[in-house]
Amino acid sequence: MKVEQTSNVNVSNFIRTIVMEDLKAGKMQEIVTRFPPEPNGYLHIGHAKSICLNFELADDFKGRTNLRFDDTNPLKEDVEYVNSIKEDVRWLGFEWDGLFFASDYFEEMYQKAIVLIQKGLAYVDDSSAEEIRQQRGTLTQPGTESPYRGRSVEENLDLFERMRNGEFKDGEKVLRAKIDMSSPNITMRDPVLYRISHAHHHNTGDKWCIYPMYDYAHPLEDAFEGVTHSICTLEFEDHRPLYDWVIEHCETDAKPKQYEFARLNMTNTVMSKRKLKQLVDEKVVDGWDDPRMPTISGLRRKGYTPEAIRSFCREIGVARANSLVDERMLEHFIREDLKLKALRTMAVLDPIKVVITNYPEGQVEWLDAENNPENPEMGNRQIPFSREIYIERDDFMENPPAKYFRLFPGNEVRLKHAYFIKCEHVVKDENGRVTEIHCTYDPETKSGSGFTGRKVKGTIHWVEASHAVPAEFRLYEPLITDDAKEDGDNFLAHINPNSLQVLEGFVEQNMKDAKPMDKFQFFRHGYFNVDPKSEGAEKIIYNRIVSLKSSFEVK
Ligand code: ATP
Ligand code: MG
Repeated sequence: MKVEQTSNVNVSNFIRTIVMEDLKAGKMQEIVTRFPPEPNGYLHIGHAKSICLNFELADDFKGRTNLRFDDTNPLKEDVEYVNSIKEDVRWLGFEWDGLFFASDYFEEMYQKAIVLIQKGLAYVDDSSAEEIRQQRGTLTQPGTESPYRGRSVEENLDLFERMRNGEFKDGEKVLRAKIDMSSPNITMRDPVLYRISHAHHHNTGDKWCIYPMYDYAHPLEDAFEGVTHSICTLEFEDHRPLYDWVIEHCETDAKPKQYEFARLNMTNTVMSKRKLKQLVDEKVVDGWDDPRMPTISGLRRKGYTPEAIRSFCREIGVARANSLVDERMLEHFIREDLKLKALRTMAVLDPIKVVITNYPEGQVEWLDAENNPENPEMGNRQIPFSREIYIERDDFMENPPAKYFRLFPGNEVRLKHAYFIKCEHVVKDENGRVTEIHCTYDPETKSGSGFTGRKVKGTIHWVEASHAVPAEFRLYEPLITDDAKEDGDNFLAHINPNSLQVLEGFVEQNMKDAKPMDKFQFFRHGYFNVDPKSEGAEKIIYNRIVSLKSSFEVK
């Protein structure tokens, strides 16, 4: 497959078609999009889909994109989240034109609510939340009107002002739109526009004790910023008539339009900030950036690159039908990105010592090794070889089954970049466990020497013992398996006990200077990233990003 890395103009989707037609028809001079996260958690891979869509769309048509914090719910929001969101958007490779907080518009929103009251289109309701729920009706039954629906404009203006002034307790009153209690669309049955909440807000402090609801605030935020195409996920399709109602009756200068697309769902992945927060709060994971988390910060710490995430988002496309994306597709793109960039080196994750008995004691020779056979520009390095090396414990079997081509007594294998070795005998401890393997090597078989005398079926990797650098390897599996999706809030019952496996082994001596976030391909094991928390740790920690192969191919 071919992935377009530089420009997306060739990518087509229904939103892009709409934008093109709008521009052609002269409906606007330029398009303005926004990415509007609520700062109540860290961004996840689903948000990346929305970020790429909004920023790339505007980029391709020379428009603008705002980052706007949709912070209308004081109880759940925090500056920690604001900062992480900014960092993640930038890391993905995007720079916003305007940076806004919905809370900065609270005064203008309040004024627009007064306009609605004056037009007889909004009223203060003393009904409780439960009563309002009961009035709402069902899909088959119309709602019933609130007894407070007939209040005069004057009374509503007075009560709304007193709501703002803090004269009432939480839940005592709300402001509702006066639309149609028998509308077939339940969203239109006199939705709540404002609620009372005596809570401290991360941006406005204690200035406000009434807060606008999403359905009222969002269209106004878009309008105040001159957003032309307000793109959201499909759950908001039923809310679109209310979006249009607010725009029409609040008489905003700009007339943004809402468009919906299908959210990203991925196999073996929970994609909800609320659930991800639960994993953090209950310490199932080591924070929002745990490499098992589908957060942008978790993927970054695991070793994903912005390029890989952007290519993935481009490949999955934008549609109006919900679907489930195979997580292996994301893995495909990190392999593609690192294939030509990552140094290929050897690491032994679960070591056992091999002594090469016919190799001179005290001698070390330096062997030539390509840094990346698929990218000769990466050059070569010299790796040490001597009498003692480490190999993987499971590259040896004392009693192998048929077709086992690695090391076993009497068998010969190639050591990558080095020589053929033959297993002569094994040393065991008192429990019968093999502690050392004794081999002989054949000096004629040096890699690159053109030796053609005989062939061996297996090639294994190794690390020379006296120069080996101790390392910790962290291998990951999905944190939560797909059956959790069927189980709603009980998803914590489906935690995979093997989601993290920690191994202690060795890497080549050239790795002693590896820096946090450096990425490597370990021969036969896959791609690894130096954990940012390795800094100052006793051993370098390598997170496995992805193994080398999967059965999944993007067509
Ligand atoms: P969550 O349910 O995970 O909390 P959210 O939609 O409540 O997500 P917001 O902060 O409100 O999170 O989302 C910001 C933007 O990201 C919205 O425009 C939303 O539509 C989009 N978004 C959120 N999740 C996904 C997803 N899985 N796929 C695509 N877009 C998403
Ligand atoms: Mg939300």
